Amino acid sequence: MFDLKSNLDHLKGIGPARLNALKSISIDNFQSLLYYFPRKYLDRNFTDKLFLKDGEFITLPVEVIDSYLAHGKRSRLIVSVKTHRGERISLVFFKGIAFFQKKLKANLSLVISGKLEYFRGLQIVHPEFEVLSDSEDTDLVHTGRIIPLYSSSEELKEIGLDSKGFRKLIRQILDLQKNGKLNIPEVLPKDILRKRKLIPRNLALEEIHFPTDSTSLKEARNRFAYEELFFFSLLLEYKKQKREKVKRVLYPYPESKSAKALIANLPFELTDDQISAIEELKKPTSRDVPSAALLQGDVGSGKTITALILALHYTDNDIQVCFVAPTEILARQHYENIMNLLGNTPFLGIELFLGKEKEKTKKEKYQRLKNGEILLAIGTHTLFQEEVKFADLGLVIFDEQHKFGVEQRESLRVKGKNPDILAMTATPIPRTLCLTLYGDLQLITIKTKPKGRIPIVTKWFEDDKREAVYNSLRKYILQGRQAFIVYPIIEESEKLDLESCITGYENLRTKVFPEFKMGLLHGKMKSAEKDSVMDKFKKNEIQILVTTTVVEVGIDVPNASILIIENSDRFGISQLHQLRGRVGRGQWESFCILISSGKISSDAVERLTALTETNDGFALSEVDLKIRGPGEVLGIRQSGLPDFKVADLQMDMPLIEQTREDSKIHSELSDLDKTEIKERFEEGRILFPN
Ligand code: ADP
Ligand code: MG
Repeated sequence: MFDLKSNLDHLKGIGPARLNALKSISIDNFQSLLYYFPRKYLDRNFTDKLFLKDGEFITLPVEVIDSYLAHGKRSRLIVSVKTHRGERISLVFFKGIAFFQKKLKANLSLVISGKLEYFRGLQIVHPEFEVLSDSEDTDLVHTGRIIPLYSSSEELKEIGLDSKGFRKLIRQILDLQKNGKLNIPEVLPKDILRKRKLIPRNLALEEIHFPTDSTSLKEARNRFAYEELFFFSLLLEYKKQKREKVKRVLYPYPESKSAKALIANLPFELTDDQISAIEELKKPTSRDVPSAALLQGDVGSGKTITALILALHYTDNDIQVCFVAPTEILARQHYENIMNLLGNTPFLGIELFLGKEKEKTKKEKYQRLKNGEILLAIGTHTLFQEEVKFADLGLVIFDEQHKFGVEQRESLRVKGKNPDILAMTATPIPRTLCLTLYGDLQLITIKTKPKGRIPIVTKWFEDDKREAVYNSLRKYILQGRQAFIVYPIIEESEKLDLESCITGYENLRTKVFPEFKMGLLHGKMKSAEKDSVMDKFKKNEIQILVTTTVVEVGIDVPNASILIIENSDRFGISQLHQLRGRVGRGQWESFCILISSGKISSDAVERLTALTETNDGFALSEVDLKIRGPGEVLGIRQSGLPDFKVADLQMDMPLIEQTREDSKIHSELSDLDKTEIKERFEEGRILFPN
């Protein structure tokens, strides 16, 4: 008898070389080999028309006849192939000529797909193709089976581990199970299989490797996508339960005198969304179960005051609150705003923590924090350090939470006695992803912005209109407004980018706007310098601030109503939207001018067009997701999202909803099972849950 943990050397055709090679790609037993799913399948929906026509998309098995180089305006490689009915097609390659010439030798069997064009005969320019490695592949093609193709490398292929090699090994394991010599236990609860109409695991394994037809392949795929998402959901559920099991020691009352006083003295009315967000956030208070919430709200929707009001409920009870921001500028701004707002409240013990400070000042502050004299600690990641200790930390607020990693968020949690967490974000996460990522967080959204805000007018210009843009900017500055001019700085070309920002500044200062007070702000400046520039800008002692993305998050200068973004095609959607949020904060009509130069990519066109069409951050994040996909949008590692093998976070939305629901019902798994899931998850093996 065998089981899923059985060694691979029980299989025919496995010697030391293959054993090692497989180990190097983390395949070391029956199970990991069975879960080595095909990379793709050759579509057997071959074009079956008698005459191939110009303009058609086709997929066809062909054989290579010969190839030659054609010289002309552009050199190209032409590979002639023929179909089984004898039609000739030319495959044309402009790029990678040497590579394709070497690869596409005469007599080779291929499956090609692409758009047919008519140019002195039928041709396809840069077709997609799959080389059929041997006679078995070719046979499969002609018998009409779907052909699974496995990821392989040159080294693996050398020892026979191409698609056919993998198929042979996997066939043996599946045959053992068919002959009753191997037990592949089901890992999903029976009633779920029934309720969700999922096929059993052993059948799904058979069909994912040796699909009978496209319907059964779809069912197999669906089953594994479900499996992955289900165990991920269980993990989230488990984490939530674990967190709730540890009773917290400190929790505030749902009433706060200081909060009431603050609200009464605000120079504005809270919006309905702010009020209901505060109500929601207050709900878990007075309970000994710690809460975790994600507060989503577009830039400028007023999250800070919402968080502050919640914080006062803690500080009124002498429970410490820690408010972290991703940059020094932002931390300082929060500190100043909060000090202004709370100026009349008989509540002291607010302190700012930045990275660089005199050793003595720092020690003294840390001491007061440890004693509990400081109740509201505002600062940067410096607060994550070991040496920072709290007396009674009860609430941690993360501003712009997506700028923090999972570990950083955890590191603060352990400093308190199971504190509440409030994460805030202006990069709205589409609902689809929210469910997966933050399945265990209470999600609160501020949808509307404060009244009286005039929507930002966004325009996109090519750089030949720069003159005109500067002229109208001049007009607004003369009316008393202020402006940002932003240059992109990206990591790969940081030095060059910084130079162009500085040159840009010098040029603007001396040649374009010599009559105005100009300032420069970038990340490489000393913090004292940065602070002084920001200070001057706030006081309108600087009229035009030339800057980099350091102003991206949270900077709040209501009188600044014009934002010009240079090389705007180099920014991502959410970054542009965040930048745009720097204006439109006061009573003035505001403008965001996107400038691009030269030819830009079609993705960039889509991005910039989207920005000019909507001010809605949620709509924009959907566009972003469409262009870049969830991995890119969220940064898989940052987000703590596993790299799903089968599940697709966009396509499998219905499954995500189902598994969220099902995992709640089935969370009665023993603690041992849960630990196991957690370990597997952490090792990135979420798919192997038994
Ligand atoms: P964000 O949600 O982007 O962090 P902020 O909290 O920085 O937004 O708020 C943006 C600006 O709006 C601040 O100047 C803040 O004082 C102001 N603000 C917040 N709430 C309201 C309100 N209800 N009415 C008017 N202005 C408000
Ligand atoms: Mg903010």
